Amino acid sequence: MQPSTEQGATPTATGPNAIARGLGALGDEWSLQVLRAAHAGATRFGRFQEQLPVSAASLAARLAFLSDEGLFTRRIYQQNPIRAEYVLTPQGRGTWPILVAIWAWEDRWADHPRGALPTRRHRTCGHEFQPVLVCAECGEPTDRHQVRTTWGPTGGWARSVPETTTRRRPRSPRRPGEFPETMAVFGNRWAAVVIGAVFQGLRRYSEFETTLKIPSNILSERLRVLVDYGLLRTEVSAEGRREYRLTDKGTAFFPVMATTLNWAERWYSLPEGPAMIWQHHDHALVPRLDCDQCGEPLAAAEIEIVRD
Ligand SMILES: [Zn+2]
Ligand SMILES: [Zn+2]
Repeated sequence: MQPSTEQGATPTATGPNAIARGLGALGDEWSLQVLRAAHAGATRFGRFQEQLPVSAASLAARLAFLSDEGLFTRRIYQQNPIRAEYVLTPQGRGTWPILVAIWAWEDRWADHPRGALPTRRHRTCGHEFQPVLVCAECGEPTDRHQVRTTWGPTGGWARSVPETTTRRRPRSPRRPGEFPETMAVFGNRWAAVVIGAVFQGLRRYSEFETTLKIPSNILSERLRVLVDYGLLRTEVSAEGRREYRLTDKGTAFFPVMATTLNWAERWYSLPEGPAMIWQHHDHALVPRLDCDQCGEPLAAAEIEIVRD
């Protein structure tokens, strides 16, 4: 897929950066569900259909979209009639930390019944676990307070907002089950940017409005949704101005952001450099998920989903 370009601009001087493209690929209500099924072993259309309550047309469109984005490759497994299966590419396989981080956040913070999500077991140690975000460079557990982010050469808010119209991107018929609250953030192109701005220290409505250049009605609506879902709270400052702050729940979304943007930079990098630079102490942050039980780094093949 070609990034859109303004007239006269070189293809990479404007247009969506890695953040916008990564969020564009994953910020669809069904993308994460399809990926979850694929990580659990689904490759053939029928298997996906068994696991996802979605129409055949909608599923086909979703698989085509994710294939266009480079997350799946089609492999012919039968000639007559021709049948193809959808196999995760390295880019698609690389989404597993995002799914694990989302699962852990939903499990801990989202408002669904306890035990609604399957637990996960780390084969290496045999225990049910929660992932811990660590810096791969120094091995320390990390959260947003130890990490400094600055824009890279392709950074800036204007380039980090996913595009509205993505080719073959179908509309979702309804909200899928497992990641409802994550979708409140990821499923809307502005919501992800608003929460990213709060992580970067923006607090006031007027700051969001001027910095992000979001239409006012959309900004109000997104802020309201993020407050309703409990990721943001409002506070009145000493000067009597309303400010938006992250709640504990919002702060805990950090590993989802870190794994998502790290994946996006890895697979949608532009020649001029990254969109965002992540610093931990005096080195670059490379996010990694460790097992809270044994302290070993997690790997996709070592994670077993336990069905109740
Ligand atoms: Zn470090
Ligand atoms: Zn373990």
